[in-house]
Amino acid sequence: SERVLSLFQPTGDSFHLGNYLGALRQWASMQGEYETFFGIADLHSLNEQPDPEVLRHRVVRSAAQMIAGGIDPERSVLFLQSAVPEHTQLMWALSCYTGFGQASRMTQFKDKSERRGSETTNVGLFTYPVLMAADILLYQAHKVPVGEDQRQHLELTRDLAVRFNGRYGQTFVVPEPHIVKSVGRIVDLQDPTIKMSKSASSPTGLIELLDEPKVTAKKIRSAVTDSGREIVYDPENKPGVSNLLTIIAALRGTDVAAVAEELAGGGYGDLKKAAAQVVDELVVPFRARTFALLDDPAELQRILARGAERAREVASVTQVDVYRKLGLL
Ligand code: ATP
Ligand code: MG
Repeated sequence: SERVLSLFQPTGDSFHLGNYLGALRQWASMQGEYETFFGIADLHSLNEQPDPEVLRHRVVRSAAQMIAGGIDPERSVLFLQSAVPEHTQLMWALSCYTGFGQASRMTQFKDKSERRGSETTNVGLFTYPVLMAADILLYQAHKVPVGEDQRQHLELTRDLAVRFNGRYGQTFVVPEPHIVKSVGRIVDLQDPTIKMSKSASSPTGLIELLDEPKVTAKKIRSAVTDSGREIVYDPENKPGVSNLLTIIAALRGTDVAAVAEELAGGGYGDLKKAAAQVVDELVVPFRARTFALLDDPAELQRILARGAERAREVASVTQVDVYRKLGLL
């Protein structure tokens, strides 16, 4: 069956509701239908020069949360990027075939380097998309579930694959973006004009899955709603209300129109109560599973070691093939 690959960058302590609905849950639903590889992009994280203790902590928590969120280590290959040396080996080869001009046109690099300034912009930030290309191409992935912000990087990956195949013969599967039947973006509870995000949201705007359920319920109660009192799905004029409807529908697995109709007779208080309830049903078992895994570091180690071994079985075949084609002995 076709292969799917995605990597999650461990940038925070807790996944938020947007990560879960927009990524993790979608990934989990692809298990069974595809051969799934899910990684933790710890090498990518280095370009932010995190404190080592913080990085270790986040990586472990990310692994636990991926499993708690539905990634089954029996059905998927779950691994740390740094445990598979082929990623950096292929990256070097690909970087020698990536035009400096093309890499310079990556808008994410331009944005981030502008924000950081040239003194604190490192070379790793610049070559990030080449490492991402290696991440994907190593596994001969057909489909890559990506957010909108990674589209240009995936285009670069496809480009590299096509060019390499043209020059050295069939080597890489050319990956397609997998656009998930999206719940759309979950927006910030306090500022519904921005997406819920680790870096941009205020703490009260962000539903963190590892927060105490009480804290989460309070955030939902204090969510910004819109003027008027009608409960209708209208993201343009009622972004706050529409966001809560989206969350309820996504977590119940029904469509938003049905939820809007059901709640139409009530007030904003009822809407928030319904949202708090479905979120509670998600986070209570999610937290329990995450903390149980974190309480058993040996088991988590075993899962990741096994994942790295299975990942390397696939990755090394591609890496060896590439090195041989390039003339390395
Ligand atoms: P940052 O602010 O650091 O970019 P983030 O909160 O946007 O962090 P990412 O790590 O960039 O989180 O996101 C990982 C994945 O989670 C994205 O590719 C996307 O699929 C999903 N995602 C993130 N935020 C949302 C959101 N608000 N709604 C839906 N999906 C989201
Ligand atoms: Mg983001």
